[in-house]
Amino acid sequence: MNDGTITSEFLGRIPLSQPAEDGDKDQRGRVLVIAGSASVPGAALLAATAALRAGAGKLQIATCQSIAIHLGLALPEALVVGLPETPSGEIDPSTAVLLRERISRCDAVLIGPGMLDEQGVSALTADLLDCDPGAAFVLDAGALAQLKDIADVLARHKGRMVITPHAGEMANLLGVDKHDVLRNPAEIAGQAASLLHCVVALKGPCTYIATPDGATWTYSDGNVGLATSGSGDTLAGIVAGLLARGVSPLEAAQWGVFLHGEAGNRLAQTRGPLGFLARELLAEIPAIMAKFH
Ligand code: AMP
Ligand code: MG
Repeated sequence: MNDGTITSEFLGRIPLSQPAEDGDKDQRGRVLVIAGSASVPGAALLAATAALRAGAGKLQIATCQSIAIHLGLALPEALVVGLPETPSGEIDPSTAVLLRERISRCDAVLIGPGMLDEQGVSALTADLLDCDPGAAFVLDAGALAQLKDIADVLARHKGRMVITPHAGEMANLLGVDKHDVLRNPAEIAGQAASLLHCVVALKGPCTYIATPDGATWTYSDGNVGLATSGSGDTLAGIVAGLLARGVSPLEAAQWGVFLHGEAGNRLAQTRGPLGFLARELLAEIPAIMAKFH
C-alpha cells in the first residue's frame, strides 16, 4: 500500500518547526556522528556537515584517532572525539563505553558512514542501543550490515530510529537477494520496518519510506546525478540533523529524502545533470528549507 507521495505540497502540511528568534544552539539539537575510518574519512565529514546544514545546533564527531585532527580542521564547527582504533584503521568497538556518557547529552546519533568493519560496527551499535540513552538514532552504511543479528536489541530498544539502506544493503540485512528487494521494494521496506521496529528509508531512484505499522510513502522526484559517491552519507546526516531538531523519525525521513533529492535537482540545473559532488548538495539545503517558511 502506498500511503502517499512525498512532494512539496505534502511536506507543506507537515512543516518543520521553526526556532524561537531568541533560541540558542542547544535548543536546536545536539548531534553525535559516529563515523569514518582510515580508508573512508570523508564519509564522516559529509554526514556531519549535512547535520548542521539541516539546522541542528551543535555537532560532535566520534571517529578513529588517526583521522580525528584532520576532520576537526576540515570541519571547524565540530567537536571531534578521537577513539582508539583497530589495526585496520576502524573505530575499536570496545570503545562504546567511552561514548555512552556523551550520547546521554545528545538528541540524535548517527552511526555508520565510512565504517567498513561490519562486525565491529554491529557490536558497537548493539552496545549503544542497549544502554537506551533516549537519543534518536540513524543507522546507515556499515551499521546496517548485521542489523538482523541484533534484532533482539532493537526490539528491546524501541527508541526513535531511522535506517537508510540502499537495495544492496537491504538485501544483505534481510539475507535475501538484491533482485527480490528491487522487485518488491515497498513490501521489503515494510518487512524491515516491522522486524527492526524503526522507520526505514529504502533508497534508490524511488525511495520507499516504511513504518513498523505497515504504512509506506514514496519519493521519486530526484535525479540520477544523486547516484554518486558519498550521496547516501549526506542523506543520513540530514536525517540526523532533523531528528536532533525534534522532528519525528517518520517526518525526518520524509523531509530528509525530499531535501536531498531537491538539492540534487538544483545542482542538476546549475551545474549539469551529472558530475555534481555529494559535498555540493549540502550548501543547497538551507535555501530549500527556507522556501517552506
Ligand atoms: P548511497 O548509495 O548510500 O550513496 O545513496 C545514494 C543516494 O542516491 C540515495 O539517496 C538514493 O535514493 C539516490 N539515488 C540513487 N540512484 C538514484 C537515481 N537513479 N535517481 C534518483 N536518486 C537516486
Ligand atoms: Mg551509502
